[in-house]
Amino acid sequence: MLTKTKIYLSSPHMGGTEQKFVDEAFDTNWIAPLGPHVDGFENDLQRYLGEDKHVAALSSGTAAIHLALQLLNVSKGDEVLCQSFTFSASANPIIYQGATPVFIDSEPDTWNMSPELLEIAIKDRIEKHKKPKAIIAVHLYGMPYKAKEINEISKTYNIPVIEDSAEALGSSYFGQPCATLSDVGILSFNGNKIITTSGGGALIVKNASLKNRAVFLSTQARDNAPHYEHSNIGYNYRLSNVLAGIGRGQMEVIDDRVNARRKNFDFYKTNLSQFNSIEFLEEPQGFFSNRWITCIKTDSFEARERIRLTLQEDDIESRPLWKPMHVQPIFKDCLRFTNGISEDLFEKGLCLPSGSNLNQEDLDRILNNILKTPNI
Ligand SMILES: *Cc1c(COP(=O)(O)O)cnc(C)c1O
Repeated sequence: MLTKTKIYLSSPHMGGTEQKFVDEAFDTNWIAPLGPHVDGFENDLQRYLGEDKHVAALSSGTAAIHLALQLLNVSKGDEVLCQSFTFSASANPIIYQGATPVFIDSEPDTWNMSPELLEIAIKDRIEKHKKPKAIIAVHLYGMPYKAKEINEISKTYNIPVIEDSAEALGSSYFGQPCATLSDVGILSFNGNKIITTSGGGALIVKNASLKNRAVFLSTQARDNAPHYEHSNIGYNYRLSNVLAGIGRGQMEVIDDRVNARRKNFDFYKTNLSQFNSIEFLEEPQGFFSNRWITCIKTDSFEARERIRLTLQEDDIESRPLWKPMHVQPIFKDCLRFTNGISEDLFEKGLCLPSGSNLNQEDLDRILNNILKTPNI
């Protein structure tokens, strides 16, 4: 019998020219966390996101969130409001800064931060003389959050928003690219994201001086002197020129990657439409998702597990949706404003294989396994 290959949730998908850029870095000996590919990759991202944007290429999305908090002067003892339904990397940098996360649950239309709960939380914290310093909202699985409502609250209370767009390069909100909808945006180019540099990230800001500040902090905060002079704590967070070369190759195919992931979503949705017990997350009018991961919501934990284990039997990777931060052991003592939505999604939701490199045979194999799962 032929052994089938494993199907992954979301695996790297090279476009073809990445190797040429990497070779160029070797040929010119630019093996450093600076160089022409770093500049070139930043320019590619700026062109894609809007020429008035300023992009700093960094070593990870997590590093970008950490620097974003610093640019907004979040420090020890401050409170930061953070979407609870997310990956832990959205929240961890709050702790790196010695600040305290306050978790906000989701709303049902996008599965992202609930504007209602956000405002309730802000009023509560202000009443207790603990006005939050920043808001971290996330375009989870590529679906934009309700940016108009969240930005209005941000403006009313004068609290800046960090836009965690790690999963949402290629998504947009009423025509405006995700990562440019708020005060500071971040991207990730980790191996499982829509494009990858194997590891990398970016910070997107509105002016050159903020970008310069971020680059300064990301390259060990060296003051202007012939020797090493420091009046700030710095970080080693700049992207390698070799990895930026991979990013330049990947930016040539970003539109194809978005189209392929959206096609995966359409395939699953069309072919599972006969099941009332399986729900998909629809795009509200004006919202455009890159469909980084196609997620389904079943009608019970047991049904979700039956599908997951049937797929696993055939060496197909699927995974429960993100476990909300407010139920993570490490954050058990943190304040939270909840409504049950993210916990329900965690209980019943499943991420299906969604790579842009899945072929029709892969998709059919995944579908047939779901179709043969008992009692769905
Ligand atoms: C991947 C991810 C991050 C972190 O990005 P890294 O590049 O892996 O550090 C942050 N937030 C979300 C929502 C992510 O999915």
